[in-house]
Amino acid sequence: MLPFKLVYHDRYDLRLGEHVFPSQKFRLIRDALILQNIAEPIDILVPHPATDADVLLVHTPQWVNKLQHNRLTLSERMLLEIPYSKDVVEAFWVAAGGSILAGRCALQDGFGVNLGGGFHHAFPGRGEGFCMIHDVAIAIRRLQADGLIHRAMVVDTDVHQGNGTAAIFADDSDVFTFSIHQENNYPMPKPPSDVDINIEDAAEDDEYLDALRKGLEGVLARFHPDLIFYVGGADPYREDQLGGLWLTMSGLLKRDQLVFEEARRRDVPVAVTLAGGYARRVADTVQIHVNTVLAARAIAGRRIN
Ligand SMILES: [Zn+2]
Repeated sequence: MLPFKLVYHDRYDLRLGEHVFPSQKFRLIRDALILQNIAEPIDILVPHPATDADVLLVHTPQWVNKLQHNRLTLSERMLLEIPYSKDVVEAFWVAAGGSILAGRCALQDGFGVNLGGGFHHAFPGRGEGFCMIHDVAIAIRRLQADGLIHRAMVVDTDVHQGNGTAAIFADDSDVFTFSIHQENNYPMPKPPSDVDINIEDAAEDDEYLDALRKGLEGVLARFHPDLIFYVGGADPYREDQLGGLWLTMSGLLKRDQLVFEEARRRDVPVAVTLAGGYARRVADTVQIHVNTVLAARAIAGRRIN
């Protein structure tokens, strides 16, 4: 049994067929966690979809209306880069509900892991890059509105910059946005996060981990969040099809450990979301995300000085 909850719903799979975004990964990760005896079914909570009121804490009524009634323009559809369907829209509402639940679990147990979410390219009035709505921003706004947190930090290690996150919280001094990503990659341009760490093409483990450690120590010394949302993309991996960094699988595990240790040292709970991952072999993407759960398990309950 895990010392924290996992959050998963069968609806996370967008069933995109032959698409570079392997959304079946969510189910494969869940299955791998059970098969590898890391988790038991009792560790896994099934989320309710976010309510429209939740989604409207971040998104414009116009965008919600367009998504729910199939009124996207052609250019809005093309920006999403995933096919539109009612089922896909509902899957995003479920993923947002999952991130809200993972946030609540993290506040109780120190960690909470949504085996989905991390849709950091959605903006209040539009979506892009496989992201219709921003589950992490919705979760932060919901938890704030419920009085459960005041200040939050988003730590985003997906290989792509968290442009939606940066834009949504640009003028909000209660939410600190931190993104470490490949500079020479989508999105272009990159709206500024509170701290952006731009990594050069083909950077390897040591260079990346050094930059991450210095960056995180710096921001956590000056901002004290009630909760960290970790957007732990698997796509800085050297065999990723949409990334140009050269991290190894063990480098990515060290990345997760580093983030969790820095949070734990300061007694800041962490809610995990998965975000991207487009390795040539889907099994690699799955294992990278499974390793994130293992990193959380190793650090949960441990005292770090
Ligand atoms: Zn990504």
